[in-house]
Amino acid sequence: GVGMIVPDKKVDSVCPYCGVGCLLTYNVKDNKILHVEGRNGIANKGRLCVKGRYGFDYIHSPERLTVPLIRRDDVPKTALLDFDPGKPFEIFREATWDEALDFAAEGLKKIIAKDGKYALAGLGSAKGSNEEAYIFQKLIRTGFQTNNVDHCTRLCHASSVTAMLEGFGSGAVSNPMADVQKADVIIIIGANPTVNHPVGATWMKNAIKNGTKLILMDPRGSEMKRHAAQHVQFKPSSDVALLNAMMHVIVTEGLTDKEFIETRTEDFLTLKEHLQDYSPEVMSPICGVSAEQIRDVARMYANANNAMILWGMGISQHVHGTDNARCLISLCMITGQIGRDGTGLHPLRGQNNVQGASDVGLIPMVFPDYQPVTLEENQDRFRKLWNVEALDDKPGITTVEMMNAAYDGIIKGMYVEGENPAMSDPDVLHAREAMAKLEHFVVQDLFLTETAFYADVVLPAAANPEKTGTYSNSDRAVQMGRQAINPPGEAKQDWWIIQEIAKRLGLDWNYQGPKDIFNEMRQAMDSIAGITWERLENESVTYPCENEGDAGEPVIFKKDFPTVSGKVKLVPADIVSPDEQPDEEYPFVLITGRQLEHWHTGSMTRRATVLDSLEPEPWISVNMSDALKLGLEDGDILKLETRRGELQAKIKVSDNSPVGTVFMPFCYFEAAANVLTNAALDPAAKIAEVKYCAVKLSAV
Ligand code: SF4
Repeated sequence: GVGMIVPDKKVDSVCPYCGVGCLLTYNVKDNKILHVEGRNGIANKGRLCVKGRYGFDYIHSPERLTVPLIRRDDVPKTALLDFDPGKPFEIFREATWDEALDFAAEGLKKIIAKDGKYALAGLGSAKGSNEEAYIFQKLIRTGFQTNNVDHCTRLCHASSVTAMLEGFGSGAVSNPMADVQKADVIIIIGANPTVNHPVGATWMKNAIKNGTKLILMDPRGSEMKRHAAQHVQFKPSSDVALLNAMMHVIVTEGLTDKEFIETRTEDFLTLKEHLQDYSPEVMSPICGVSAEQIRDVARMYANANNAMILWGMGISQHVHGTDNARCLISLCMITGQIGRDGTGLHPLRGQNNVQGASDVGLIPMVFPDYQPVTLEENQDRFRKLWNVEALDDKPGITTVEMMNAAYDGIIKGMYVEGENPAMSDPDVLHAREAMAKLEHFVVQDLFLTETAFYADVVLPAAANPEKTGTYSNSDRAVQMGRQAINPPGEAKQDWWIIQEIAKRLGLDWNYQGPKDIFNEMRQAMDSIAGITWERLENESVTYPCENEGDAGEPVIFKKDFPTVSGKVKLVPADIVSPDEQPDEEYPFVLITGRQLEHWHTGSMTRRATVLDSLEPEPWISVNMSDALKLGLEDGDILKLETRRGELQAKIKVSDNSPVGTVFMPFCYFEAAANVLTNAALDPAAKIAEVKYCAVKLSAV
């Protein structure tokens, strides 16, 4: 055809964006990606969404970092005011790799010598491969010699994982997303899959077309509501009231699965007694849903032959996020809706490798495969495997705690690989101030992100299509990502950079590439011990796969749970109020989230030309009646103010925002929604309440 450029090669890989884990093919010519096609992966069967199909040219952005950078002596770390990511030379000078790596490592070593090992912390990435995440946590544990290592799972599903580990000893999904097609009823709560897991959403819509009933439970409306048999539009933050009321109905009407409760659960009687106070009539005014609708949806779920629950950040990002997840677990267990096709629990994972990064131990309380750092047997296992004399047995601090500790001068040095806390942390002005206070800050990324602005040294890394490695999707499928092109300039592969830092901290690693690292991971993690690199070259494998040749297990918990008793512990939850309630001064509720065309802090998608031209500027979603009261129309400028900061953006009038609430995506650096959010933490999971804070609206 006219103008059709023929690629030199096609490289099979995996999408760099969301946790659905779509497989794709890069069409490459002259070290440039021409276009992307979907291929036949277990999660996507050839499908791709707009991000996967059109969001690839961020890698060719003129803003890519191509040489290591060291901060100029005369540039102070002040607020992110006139920062222009296109002009790194105003803040940094170019350095050789040797100089930059020496400088990075020396600064870290100096802090250990002066202030001790607890003055350092590291943030790894859910965007990198399993191998990168694994050696990053190994570097922190054996080089920094503490467990002060975390990643953005803390801002995302930490509360879900906390409740799941407590309840049934595993943080993984029970069934793959596409199992919705085998379910009679699905509950989607606190999630907007059309936007955040778009190909997953197509499976949901296919299922609905074939007769599956959708119960959509969300304070906000979304595109999914057109497909819902029931849209339960509860008041923001009233999840526990609503879910307890549903369970009250199920217990009082005898809709429980008695045999399942008897043989596979513990503490049902305590839960049953707890639920007595939560009748739909009493809970109805609290959650803003009629008692009748609560009864209807409770019966629909409990009476279904097979029913599945999928949830997202609307459940997890609250000070009661762990309680919310506890309720979903109990709802599922008292009805026995688990252990079969088309049932179970599926926390929808946001980033392409947030499941894998958690699995390989990029979290402060556990070694790889969720083995607690506090247990002597685990200490033993990893001392031997990593050939070190001592490992810290004290759990480390979490993402938001790290920033607070930096603010208070307790953490003095940090290494951040591929994350952007200057955009993603709650109360982000506070987090930015904390980063500005660091004595030594090493940042490794593709771009001069808002976070890199505060760095002392910036190490230019490789993008997803520039490296090979494995990724674990939301379904627990381990999949191979392959290098299609070379990194630009002197940018290097992340595993190489991490190993060079490790060397300079006195560690004797000698990995030749990701395959060596993967083979070590198999010794560290029973769940993937049976998966060979060679097999991943040919197919995706869903763990657990403990022995070579095991098929892998898309559906788990068929007979028992990985707890001491083999049973699930049912944990009752009380109603806990949000940390900050609307009042006269700040009368609205602010909900933050994501949007289809952009991904997380926007560091990649804002630099992807197609995606950014589709959604080029920040917006605030406001209900029509609230807009009328303010005298505003679509496109007018609105100012939002909270106790922590303020910003301005255009409004989009939308019924998806209920009266009294506004919604804003957090991907726009020019109006960063997290300037407004509340950093109050869930006490169990240390996740922040970015789904709820009090805000003031005014016309500009
Ligand atoms: Fe990529 Fe997710 Fe879109 Fe699939 S659904 S193409 S994994 S962003």
